[in-house]
Amino acid sequence: MPLDLRTDVPWWTPRDQAELEERTNELVDALFTHREENCGVCADLPRTGGRCEVVNGLISGVVEWRDSRERANRLRAVRLALAPMPRPNPIPIDRLVRILRETAP
Ligand SMILES: [Zn+2]
Repeated sequence: MPLDLRTDVPWWTPRDQAELEERTNELVDALFTHREENCGVCADLPRTGGRCEVVNGLISGVVEWRDSRERANRLRAVRLALAPMPRPNPIPIDRLVRILRETAP
């Protein structure tokens, strides 16, 4: 039965999820570290409502990693689904003819 790409292929494995959670924890640590660095932009955050380039970069790094991993997983799954199924070695034709002759009624 061929793979159903919508249901049979895990795009996001528990291992991927564990890695994402680890990267998210590291992100939170990095954000707290940045906060302690007294960034002027972040200090003004309540007024500007924005994020500084450092914070944007930290968040983007995790988001881009997640998107990249998911794309790679999808690509690998599609390649696996499209790969030709391995076939048993064919019986050489001369051997097949001999077998047919020897077993003919
Ligand atoms: Zn900042």
